Amino acid sequence: MHDIVLIPGDGIGPEITKSVTTILDAAGADINWIKCTAGLTAQEELGNPLPDETLDAIKKYRLALKGPLTTPIGAGFRSVNVAMRKKFELHSNIRPAKTLPHIESRFDNVDLVMFRENTEGLYIGKEQWVKENSHAESIAVVTREASEKVIRSAFEYAKKKNRKKVTLIHKANILKFTCGLFMEVGEEIAKDYPEIEYEDLIVDNMAMQMVLQPEQFDVIVTTNLFGDILSDLASGLVGGLGLTGAANVGDDAAMFEAVHGSAPDIAGQNVANPIAFLLSALMMLEHIDENDLADRIRQAVYLTLEDKSVCTPDIGGSGSTTAFTEAVVKNL
Ligand code: NAD
Repeated sequence: MHDIVLIPGDGIGPEITKSVTTILDAAGADINWIKCTAGLTAQEELGNPLPDETLDAIKKYRLALKGPLTTPIGAGFRSVNVAMRKKFELHSNIRPAKTLPHIESRFDNVDLVMFRENTEGLYIGKEQWVKENSHAESIAVVTREASEKVIRSAFEYAKKKNRKKVTLIHKANILKFTCGLFMEVGEEIAKDYPEIEYEDLIVDNMAMQMVLQPEQFDVIVTTNLFGDILSDLASGLVGGLGLTGAANVGDDAAMFEAVHGSAPDIAGQNVANPIAFLLSALMMLEHIDENDLADRIRQAVYLTLEDKSVCTPDIGGSGSTTAFTEAVVKNL
């Protein structure tokens, strides 16, 4: 039995959470869900968007499946999501982008996994006005330690999943110190994995290559800002953000979430697409080595995508969250 913290989240969060837990339970996942709250729901109920009980539970159980959170405007945290990633040192943001059957996209054979450094770079919040607001500056920090963690995670993932190539993305021709260090660490770590092909590409070239021929990429690793941009680009190659799951993984904890937000415009209407959150949950199952179970559910999703009458409107269907959920359960 696996104890896993479950945060349904805000907006469409509770609907897609119900869908995902229904499917996992029906598939026989041996999970004891520890239900916690965060975000706007927690702010309204407990006056705190990130309650201590939730933090304590993640600290104790070290695994969380988290629905999308609305960032409460004017509250103490800039973003609850960013705060959680920092608090638990979730150094690697992992986002697979894979072509799905029966989903329209420009490319047929995309199957890449992006590793984004999740804790530093330009996201450390060191920004300031200089000279009476006449100019502003922003500081990027790249450390050897954080670079090693995300790059090694990418190589370890490639090794475990029998992936053939790791591509490191940088801008070391201009950002000679920060990206230079990231690249140097990449070259050192690559030597420990002679069986995996290694290459590095400058980020502007990478953007063009991804649009021209994304099938050439396998595992990709990059710094925070480049990863932020390129991972959305990767999602766009396979049908959009609504179909992309993500993991935030550290040495001691991991948190799985969909890439999309709380979609308040469609909350409570039974039209939210649960696929992205379900794919995040499948990454979680793989993380705890429940690979066969994850595969079985993934095949049921692929089969369900054939029938547009049960799929949600965002992917051209005429169904609903509950219709899709029931169909996946039937197809298990
Ligand atoms: P969003 O992703 O919530 O919505 C953008 C558009 O996509 C909307 O039209 C929405 O209806 C649609 N959409 C999103 N998910 C969908 C799904 N599963 N099925 C069908 N349609 C879907 O982005 P937003 O509107 O910019 O943000 C809303 C709130 O979510 C904000 O408070 C933002 O801070 C938060 N947010 C949270 C996370 C997170 O928790 N990781 C990520 C992004 C945004």
